[in-house]
Amino acid sequence: METTNTRYQILGTTDEVTSCDCCGRTNLKKTVALLVNDFPKFFGVDCAAAAMGFSKKHITHKAERADWRNENPEAAAREDRNNAQMAALRERCNRMF
Ligand SMILES: [Zn+2]
Repeated sequence: METTNTRYQILGTTDEVTSCDCCGRTNLKKTVALLVNDFPKFFGVDCAAAAMGFSKKHITHKAERADWRNENPEAAAREDRNNAQMAALRERCNRMF
């Protein structure tokens, strides 16, 4: 299986889809909404973790962050701006040394 070229993006979690597109397990409490090479898929946390090579804890954390961003678009945009500013600052500092 080719996994090296597969791109994954975590979109968030949902309890509306309870079956895993990866292994076909059903009756899951929730699934992780992913873009796999730009195609939307729903994976159980176990499969998402295995597919992306992260721990389950890491996946859950990332998915919760994505949920938070979806629910708070303004705060997320503010955070992005802050991060961009910080990156620019860091860039400037790095150039000084
Ligand atoms: Zn699965």
